[in-house]
Amino acid sequence: MSEDYQVIVIGAGPAGYVAAIRCAQLGLKTVCIEKWVDDKGESKLGGTCLNVGCIPSKALLDSSHKYVDAKKDFAIHGINSESVTIDIKKMLARKDKIVSQLTGGITGLFKSNGVNSIFGTAKLLANKQVEVINTAGEQTIYQGEHIIIAAGSVPIAIPPAPLVDDIIVDSTGALEFSSVPERLGIIGAGVIGLELGSVWARLGAEVTVLEALDDFLPAVDMTIAKETKKVFKQQGLDIRLGTRVTATEVTSNGANRQVIVEYSDAKGTQQANFDRLIVCVGRRPLSENLLAPDSGVNLDERGFVFVNEQCETDARDIYAVGDIVRGPMLAHKGSEEGVMVAERIAGMQTQINYDNIPGVIYTHPEIAWVGKTEQELKATGHDYKVGSFPFAASGRALAANETTGMVKMIADAQTDRILGCHIIGPSAADLVQQVVIAIEFGASSEDLALTVFSHPTVSEAVHEAALAVSGHAIHIANKRPRKG
Ligand code: FAD
Ligand code: NAD
Repeated sequence: MSEDYQVIVIGAGPAGYVAAIRCAQLGLKTVCIEKWVDDKGESKLGGTCLNVGCIPSKALLDSSHKYVDAKKDFAIHGINSESVTIDIKKMLARKDKIVSQLTGGITGLFKSNGVNSIFGTAKLLANKQVEVINTAGEQTIYQGEHIIIAAGSVPIAIPPAPLVDDIIVDSTGALEFSSVPERLGIIGAGVIGLELGSVWARLGAEVTVLEALDDFLPAVDMTIAKETKKVFKQQGLDIRLGTRVTATEVTSNGANRQVIVEYSDAKGTQQANFDRLIVCVGRRPLSENLLAPDSGVNLDERGFVFVNEQCETDARDIYAVGDIVRGPMLAHKGSEEGVMVAERIAGMQTQINYDNIPGVIYTHPEIAWVGKTEQELKATGHDYKVGSFPFAASGRALAANETTGMVKMIADAQTDRILGCHIIGPSAADLVQQVVIAIEFGASSEDLALTVFSHPTVSEAVHEAALAVSGHAIHIANKRPRKG
């Protein structure tokens, strides 16, 4: 039976479910439609992030980090743990339990906030009508006053490396390997390649990463990208830049299957053999079959739903948020857009500061950043000053045996306003958040320098980097020591 809603949300990933909850909190009659069905045939809320993205990948990163810590790093503390072993089945079961707990949690949040939840595949028709085909194949049409499209994204496939069973997989398959591959190939040295490559490398796989570009992590600040490459090399990741995969073939030798990858690089045609291959060359918006031709909503040339800064589409009262629109494909970016749109529907004037969205690569050490990189500022001729502080000079980092990396702070040369912060090191994700807050309040590097930081903490490295911007760092020699 059809029903009218003030807000219809398509998709229950972090962009859609957050938008739906905020709409309901603001007193709007809201329904959220979700089509996700897991490998057991059960309908699930939470989208990519909770089911096959942020959460399961971090569960495996944390498990594999504990393993490698116990096996390799405990010894320095005088703890003997050479005989540590890992039970992959248990590690995967733990990950699955966390995913179930959190996706079930969204069901609870929908109930407590009064969001109506419908499982089925939605299509936006003309005049803000939404067709839903449920899991039994039945069609219902819903009428909305406002529509929020939050249909998310899927992995990009490349013709030379089609997925094959559990041999050539995408990021979802790479969360499910039932044993540690001896030789693991990865196509794409992006966030997923580095995070999931780290998981399996820590557990014992020999990991080779084939990256098309000549530069490593070109979007990350150049100092941090350089340090990151060095650290991953030390960790055993063989990162081959400037490679183009031209063909793959899965071969069998009895029960053993392997994949032969042909690729070209500066030296010519090369071949590499792997037990498993992960294809992670980016994600694309999931916009096919989503919009009827007369829905009024337009896509851009790359298939993203076209929106302005307020996430309004070309059609009145229809919005789009999260991975399906321009900008970084990050759960927190989508969630903030969901909140902004819900509040604007309710008549508020909420905006997002798109210049202040942090990014993190959850390897060990972590890599985290916010704001402008040095190369971006150089390219635009913006006058800036830089202060850096190495974790090797942090007492707390030394106590924790976590001395790799640094904090790099960039501020405007004239106004001293913080323009960016780039970190590789312990708890980088949490440290950068302090600078995100500072930037949100329009802080200068001097504001951070005048702030009291607890001792001993690794966050003192943020304090020292802020001091170093003006040549006042205490615990390292300043490059340009200044009086005053
Ligand atoms: P999604 O999470 O993709 O949700 C969209 C939902 O819409 C899906 O549930 C889909 O089934 C549903 N849907 C689509 N079409 C329809 C339709 N027609 N009808 C009904 N429902 C529909 N980001 C971070 O910020 N931090 C991380 O650590 C992080 N780690 C990641 C690790 C991996 C392995 C991957 C793959 C991604 C990771 N991401 C991370 C990215 C993050 O998962 C996405 O940015 C985020 O999930 C996007 O949220 P979304 O709501 O826009 O889309
Ligand atoms: P990505 O864009 O981060 O990296 C893809 C890499 O593959 C790039 O370096 C690209 O140059 C390379 N590439 C593209 N085509 C190639 C080819 N044919 N051969 C070899 N290399 C090729 O994409 P991803 O790692 O797949 O992640 C997808 C999205 O998910 C990202 O936008 C990311 O923001 C998000 N994500 C975020 C996190 C996090 O926040 N920690 C974690 C995982 C994923």
